[in-house]
Amino acid sequence: MNTITELRAKFISGETTPTEIVKATLATIKEKDGEIHAFLAVYEDAIEEAEKATALYKEKGVDTPALLGVPIALKNNILLKGKKTTGASKILENYTAVYDATIVKKLKEAGAIFVGATNMDEFAMGGSTENSAFGPTKNPVDTSRVPGGSSGGSAAAVAMGAVPAAIGTDTGGSIRQPASYCGLVGFKPTYGAVSRYGLMAMGSSLDQAGPLTNLVADAETLHNIMAGKDPMDATTISPDTYEEVKNKDKYTFGVPKHFLAEGVDPDVLKAFEEHVQLLKEAGHEVVDIDLPLFEQGLAAYYVVMPAEVSSNLARYDGIRYGLSVDGDDLLAVYEKSRAKGFGAEVKRRILLGTHVLSSGYYDAYYGKAELARKKMREELASTFKKVDFILTPTAPTPAFKLGEKSEPLAMYKQDIFTVPVNLTGVPAITFPVGTVERDGKSLPVGVQYIGPHGGDARLFEIGKSMYDERK
Ligand code: GLN
Repeated sequence: MNTITELRAKFISGETTPTEIVKATLATIKEKDGEIHAFLAVYEDAIEEAEKATALYKEKGVDTPALLGVPIALKNNILLKGKKTTGASKILENYTAVYDATIVKKLKEAGAIFVGATNMDEFAMGGSTENSAFGPTKNPVDTSRVPGGSSGGSAAAVAMGAVPAAIGTDTGGSIRQPASYCGLVGFKPTYGAVSRYGLMAMGSSLDQAGPLTNLVADAETLHNIMAGKDPMDATTISPDTYEEVKNKDKYTFGVPKHFLAEGVDPDVLKAFEEHVQLLKEAGHEVVDIDLPLFEQGLAAYYVVMPAEVSSNLARYDGIRYGLSVDGDDLLAVYEKSRAKGFGAEVKRRILLGTHVLSSGYYDAYYGKAELARKKMREELASTFKKVDFILTPTAPTPAFKLGEKSEPLAMYKQDIFTVPVNLTGVPAITFPVGTVERDGKSLPVGVQYIGPHGGDARLFEIGKSMYDERK
């Protein structure tokens, strides 16, 4: 049940059927989701699709699409035709998607069965899923703690054993950080590898969709199905336009040591150091690197991202979609609808974004942040001439308690290792490397491998050898 790889083999051999598995999924959700709240909606009609898939396996066996009958959970900012897609916002509480996102279309064609919509921080803004307008999700490993965010519902859905995989989106770490907090594999593709058509835009130059799974091999399967050039998203690139990034037997990993010196939980650092040791034992080389600009990532991200948020969220005006509050004139409708429909964090970012884009401050903030971003890309490009991967912890701490980081800056700091990856457009994978003990619970800790632009396949290759094969 926990991996696509295993399910697929069992469906083909007839050891189990999609009908049985989808029933088990719905039963697990019924049993556990009252407490966890990973799902905003559960699709009971998945059973009918499962029955069709079961019949198809009987008829065709191995000659069926790669995901036939596999239950998958979908973050609720990704459009699934005919289903409510809310972005976990009051402003879209009653919005039903009128078309499928490109990735949804591709997953459907591969036979996947969507079993439910997962909870998230409102419009993907946050790192704990506490910003959902519909109440937080709890971490299945320890329900007094957050599952991370913003794809916290997707992470919890997999971690609680309901589905073998879920799809999330990552603008600054929203796949990788919850994967790390919940003990999963999470993958953020090279920018443009995966179509954003049908995703609710947060930061258009940063957003990518990707998988949360229990195996690197499963993440690879899902990514390869979702990736590719899409005429509906002009920023997508075809994989063969990448400079060829070849797989090797032995790799060089660069660790920005000074960057890890501050603010990282000592137990997380210990798990990280143990992984460094493991890499060395496996014959890889691990060297210290300097990444001075990388360290400015958080500052640049919290200028660029809100700027894009303020522009992307202008479309929720009380006229075009969802909630509309009456007013004396059009401006009043806009103001009242947005005041009522958006939560506090979304409003904070819209205000910040409008400020950094305003004519008097554009050069001082937005212009500078974009410049920093350009320099970061150059720094990375020269670093990747010397090393194959950059290695960091995925997050500076294990999962924190619900309510513990209600102060926005404390929450933003959790993104320190993940946001530079989105700003520079490179791919990164996270997988569990150990646990730390807190209040009698073993909390998972993840490590992040960052690859060069277009190095997605190579990340899967090394991920499988350092994680799947050692599990
Ligand atoms: N935690 C980050 C933020 O709040 C990342 C969010 C994301 O990747 N969607 O912006």
